[in-house]
Amino acid sequence: MDTTMSEVVQFIQENDVKFIRLAFCDIFGNQKNIAIQPTELTRAFEYGIHFNASALRGFLNVDASDLLLFPDPATLSVLPWRPAQGRVVRFYCDIRYPDGTPFEGDGRYLLRQASRRARKAGYSLTMCTASEFYLFELDENGHPTTIPHDHGEYFDVAPLDKAENVRRQICLTLEEMNIQPESSHHEQGPGQNEVDFRAAEALEAADNFVTFKWVVKSMASSSGLYASFLPKPLQNTPGSGLHLAVSITKDGQNLFHPSIEESEEGRQFVAGVLRRAAEMTIFGNPLTNSFQRLGEFEAPKYITWSHQNRAPLITVPLATGGKPNRFKLRSFDGCINPYIVFALLIHAGLDGIENKLELAPACEENLFTSSEAVRARYDALPESLCEAIRTAQSSDFIAKYLPEKMRTAFFAAKQAEHDRIALADDRTAAERQLYFE
Ligand code: GLN
Ligand code: MG
Ligand code: MG
Repeated sequence: MDTTMSEVVQFIQENDVKFIRLAFCDIFGNQKNIAIQPTELTRAFEYGIHFNASALRGFLNVDASDLLLFPDPATLSVLPWRPAQGRVVRFYCDIRYPDGTPFEGDGRYLLRQASRRARKAGYSLTMCTASEFYLFELDENGHPTTIPHDHGEYFDVAPLDKAENVRRQICLTLEEMNIQPESSHHEQGPGQNEVDFRAAEALEAADNFVTFKWVVKSMASSSGLYASFLPKPLQNTPGSGLHLAVSITKDGQNLFHPSIEESEEGRQFVAGVLRRAAEMTIFGNPLTNSFQRLGEFEAPKYITWSHQNRAPLITVPLATGGKPNRFKLRSFDGCINPYIVFALLIHAGLDGIENKLELAPACEENLFTSSEAVRARYDALPESLCEAIRTAQSSDFIAKYLPEKMRTAFFAAKQAEHDRIALADDRTAAERQLYFE
């Protein structure tokens, strides 16, 4: 055991910890966990903890069904909403086969590889997530409804905003877990809210996003509400996105500072991401429901970039005081596996630099309101889950960076979702049944 591990073991012994949750995500980004007793932690660090992977839907139906969870000591966190006496802590885990090989369905492993590639090329990369979600009422049996918790709008205050206490609870809980929110507010939709985070290294940002969703769901539930990250839970109202701000430095120099015009590599990175945007869509917008969000209510659709506008996929704002400059990608939604998506994004950008891609001129027109003729100048993201699957299936880029087993399992599951909904008499009801809870 290295020092971090022994420090962690000491922390567990001295802080009345009774349960240790070993957490990980399936390939779809659903968090799973098993609780072990503190007596087992040393063994977990050294030999891993077995689990039966064939019982998990998103786990590639591996023939050899035994996999091992190795807790990552750097991710130790107390769960503040669990009892203060007889505490519960959680680790995110790396997943390996019994012979020690990394499991190809483990998104953390893929993201580590992508980050390593960036570091080797001399880039240091951080990500900020900004995530929107809806709060809905429960019915008398405690089941979620689609009745929004309030009728507040963008930046409203109480009493129109009924969620101030839930957001307060969410932010304070995250702070106790050493995850630093930066701001929070009521969003445009009724019952819709947003929390924005400080920048973190990619793996940490992905872990934090998974934790964030857990905290939001737990805090909503303890307030008698249901939190949904569904991209488009209500027709004709704003959808919920996961906006990602990426900042990159090389030799201490921010690639987007003071503006992207000054950095060839910054432009190449963004060009690389745009080039692969359509191919990545099935991972960044992974539900049939995701495609109802794109192209309206400020959710982007066109594969282009801008300094100001929200319709293009990427905005590169001009530098503002006190913050490292960055580019913002606005297409993803909260139902992603963040590890896979962040890994693909990093590879796409680095490929852009390696291939010296040229960035097309910025689009400063408002594509939400412009004419068809103007919009037709730009490529759009795939229009449906089906189109997104096809685009990824024929992509050399996806084939290069995602292990075959993972791709195949992902595409097959998505195709089955698409078919199930396409065949239903009432598609909205079918989607709701499949995704809402
Ligand atoms: N809700 C929009 C989206 O789906 C974003 C709108 C906003 O942040 N103001 O991405
Ligand atoms: Mg925002
Ligand atoms: Mg927003």
